[in-house]
Amino acid sequence: MMRCILPNQTIGIIGGGQLGKMLAAAANRMGYLTVVYDPSLHAPAFSMAHQYTIGHFDDYEALSQFVAKCDVVTYEFENINADLVKRLNEQYNNIPQGHFPLWMTQNRMREKEHIVNAGLPVPPIVMVDSLGDEWLGLPEKLGFPFVVKTSEGGYDGKGQAVVRSREDLPNKLFALMDSSVIAEAFVDYDFEASIIGVRGQDGEFVTFPVARNEHINNILHCSIASMDESEDLTERLHTMLKNLMEKYDVVGILAMEVFVKGDEIYVNELAPRPHNSGHYTIEGCTTSQFEQAIRAVCGLPLGCTTLRQTTIMYNLLGQHIEPLMTYLPHLSRNGHVHLYGKKENKFNRKVGHVTFTCDQQTQEFSHAVFTHQEE
Ligand code: AMP
Repeated sequence: MMRCILPNQTIGIIGGGQLGKMLAAAANRMGYLTVVYDPSLHAPAFSMAHQYTIGHFDDYEALSQFVAKCDVVTYEFENINADLVKRLNEQYNNIPQGHFPLWMTQNRMREKEHIVNAGLPVPPIVMVDSLGDEWLGLPEKLGFPFVVKTSEGGYDGKGQAVVRSREDLPNKLFALMDSSVIAEAFVDYDFEASIIGVRGQDGEFVTFPVARNEHINNILHCSIASMDESEDLTERLHTMLKNLMEKYDVVGILAMEVFVKGDEIYVNELAPRPHNSGHYTIEGCTTSQFEQAIRAVCGLPLGCTTLRQTTIMYNLLGQHIEPLMTYLPHLSRNGHVHLYGKKENKFNRKVGHVTFTCDQQTQEFSHAVFTHQEE
């Protein structure tokens, strides 16, 4: 039965990174109390929470005490042990998203199987389980180039490599073979896009406007949500994600990344949490992805997701902070700076983002802040 969580009740957030911080900010604005759980004393979200708990993600006792004191619990990190979340929800019945979205997305092969079973297209894929001879046949099955990815634990291009020739194959593959690997046909896509869906406990479903995404070194560089986006693409992505979330009765937020090539759409991956490509929604949409995720787990009606104007988000990595500081005095009234309060500005690690609610200044900004891309 759907429970409605009201202001002044307590929302627990497992994971204290920037996503947890922005979730907590949205919850605070809605009048909730927030508690955040993370292993690091320096977790950015702690500064936004009413209380925090330091504990490991696989520490059942610590997590159990945390979940027990919350009225409702959500997560911002997809690698929390899904079995553990299942046990906690059986005990306390206050994690509306449950363990399923975590379990489904924690293993790439399992994720792709679920995507296919929901009728959505993925690139041709082969599973490589062991160091038997099966890998020798990959070029015949997939053609060159193809991509090898660890089944579990990869992010921002880590745990994956592009194989361009037969000579290339053993090195690239064996470097990843600590766990099982999937090999995937390389999609020579026109562009990458993503869509974020939110589904309430009563089945209400909304998506946010499509973002087109550009990566540099496999790390998201910018996301553009345009007022001129193709209605056909938006409609197709909306329907795909709706079908998938309804089929598996997913509650809460789920992001879907796709490759678009001509009329073809291939699903690359899913994320059961707010997504970097949805940060633009904070200023770009009436309701942000963070507020929407909070509404869904609290049993509130979902908000309006209309795009107010074309909006562009740029990620800031550690090396961009120095040029950003020089540029700050020139930022126009349409540039919104978010810095996450990370302890260190590490090279190639996300430490903030800037959102422009118009594109007048973006070229100048981009040139000033991102020309020091490489170390
Ligand atoms: P992933 O970790 O799967 O999101 O992949 C990171 C990035 O690698 C994607 O955003 C793409 O730019 C690229 N990539 C991953 N898989 C493929 C593929 N099958 N074909 C082409 N590019 C890919």
